[in-house]
Amino acid sequence: MLKLKEVHVKYGHYTAVKDATIEVESGEIIVLLGANGAGKSTLFRAISGLQRVASGSISFFDEPIHSLSADRIVQKGIVQCAEGRKLFPQMTVHENLQLGAFVHKRKKEQIKETMNHVYELFPILKDKDTHAAGSLSGGQQQMLAIGRALMAKPKLMMLDEPSIGLAPLIVEQMFNIIETINKEGTTILLAEQNANAALKIADKGYVFESGSIVLSGTSEELMSNEKVKKAYIGA
Ligand code: ATP
Repeated sequence: MLKLKEVHVKYGHYTAVKDATIEVESGEIIVLLGANGAGKSTLFRAISGLQRVASGSISFFDEPIHSLSADRIVQKGIVQCAEGRKLFPQMTVHENLQLGAFVHKRKKEQIKETMNHVYELFPILKDKDTHAAGSLSGGQQQMLAIGRALMAKPKLMMLDEPSIGLAPLIVEQMFNIIETINKEGTTILLAEQNANAALKIADKGYVFESGSIVLSGTSEELMSNEKVKKAYIGA
């Protein structure tokens, strides 16, 4: 589905992502592990078309996408649910969700259907649909960010640290929901520092250090890897 081949991403002279080769198959959950500053967000920005690759290629269903604009990439079916939520705090939950649907030309009924589905996944958003997004708790805002991404009907959803700053119980809910979204047919690319929770739901993972992939494998392989245990699971 998504293939990155020898991707380099630079900020000026600084190379933030070096030689990244990643393959994501339809239906998978792939996790990118790595400390702050390891290059995960930069890689997401490159896939989303927000940051140009310096060299290498990114293809989606065998079509090169690394020269397309960000809005074309969203239309192709790659949607990022951003770290830091990036909601419109003064607008209602309902309005924020509606904005997520604007990437495609769709009939009102179809948008309503998708919205009902988001409300089924997140009943709290339905309860609060007339509330300002900024009045929601951190966990609820994260759910709204995921809901808004779902409104664009993505084939591939990218989530950057969805568990950041959330209470453990909410983190568990969040990962359950990500798993449900995946089972319903959306492929997931997840950047996380919470390796334990992420590897439990993921099929495969890549470990980033200083912009390079230093390790990759199935979740089982990574979970039993001594380096991963020490650096990311704390066992
Ligand atoms: P985090 O979880 O903190 O976002 P990350 O693994 O996603 O970490 P990136 O945000 O991709 O890491 O950052 C990779 C490197 O690139 C870091 O050293 C960072 O300081 C640098 N960097 C990120 N954005 C820019 C920018 N706009 N200009 C210059 N350097 C940047």
